[in-house]
Amino acid sequence: MTIMAPSQPPVPGQVGQAIAESCTESDACPTFARLNARLANLEMQVSTDYLTGLWNRAHFNQVVDSELDRSLRYKQPVSLILFDIDHFKRANDQFGHQAGDAVLRELALVANAATRSSDAVFRWGGEEFAVLATSTGYRGAGRLAEALRGQVACHVFPDVGTVTVSLGVAEHSASESAEAWFRRADGMLYAAKREGRNCVRVDANGNSDTWAAAQGPAALCLSWQEAYECGEPSIDREHLELFNLANALIDVSVMSNSDSGKVLSVFDKLLDHIACHFVNEEALLELRGYAHADAHRRAHANLLRRARALRDGLEAGSASLGGIVEFLAGEVVARHLFKADRDFFPLFRAGAGNAETVPVA
Ligand code: GH3
Ligand code: MG
Ligand code: MG
Repeated sequence: MTIMAPSQPPVPGQVGQAIAESCTESDACPTFARLNARLANLEMQVSTDYLTGLWNRAHFNQVVDSELDRSLRYKQPVSLILFDIDHFKRANDQFGHQAGDAVLRELALVANAATRSSDAVFRWGGEEFAVLATSTGYRGAGRLAEALRGQVACHVFPDVGTVTVSLGVAEHSASESAEAWFRRADGMLYAAKREGRNCVRVDANGNSDTWAAAQGPAALCLSWQEAYECGEPSIDREHLELFNLANALIDVSVMSNSDSGKVLSVFDKLLDHIACHFVNEEALLELRGYAHADAHRRAHANLLRRARALRDGLEAGSASLGGIVEFLAGEVVARHLFKADRDFFPLFRAGAGNAETVPVA
């Protein structure tokens, strides 16, 4: 059974097909063919709802824990939408049970069409349904629920005409159990019913907010990539530290826009680190006989001069956060680290010999 919750139930016979691939005489084997058909049937029965063809509740229980594990591990939000047909009893009473069944079947099609392929739609039971929306916080799930509500409301169902649905939305929060999460979504569905039906109620809590808050207020962040490693341990360590200090400077600039003392102290730390790092890198390049060592030294001196000017400008009130970010991201990372430094990377590739390192003070 798949771990990720796909939007559509499995194609009948996936299990049997796997066996068939290992059976060279499958066509000529009637016992195998019968076994294959029974396995396919069983597979469909345990995971899907007989009336609508949607995933059933048993399948939800089977996938929900791994979805929650995945969400927490990769910090990708996941949301649950529960929806229920409004006054469906009346429709059954008025048009008959078979017409009601046809509404349920068609509603499944509308719901599948309204959701993305990464979302999974389940028939929870009776006239209640659930959507498991991966990589979606409560805001996105609220929009999805509203779109679904609108599409159901304007759909014309055979015999019955129009029906409406009420929807409740909850994003998974902290490390709550699947049951607790479901109860919050159900509470929202209940609120939607109570507050007039044909509407969406969203519980505005969830891990997406917690994770965003933990990242700090700056949406701006230099992100370190493995491709920035040259293979010389002390240079790589110092480059990574440069990223960390640059991000700390961006964060503190956003947080303490009126407290320039704090910003300047972080800026000074970054400048000290850059100066030490340049000394170390230049020494290592000289040791390796780097052909462009002089030009590289000049580039370093130029960067350091500009960084110090920016720092003084900040103290004098003439430099902005935008200027700092542009310098760090554009000049230091994009132009120097990613372009100029790459020129010496081959010196430190495996087999190029080990250089002695000069420790950074
Ligand atoms: P509410 O807006 O409060 O949800 O009202 P409701 O009438 O939809 O809710 P209630 O729980 O009172 O009734 C649910 C109805 O759904 C009762 C039943 O006739 C109908 N129903 C449940 N499962 C099926 C089904 O498989 N087929 C059909 N045709 N009707 C079903
Ligand atoms: Mg109902
Ligand atoms: Mg109901």
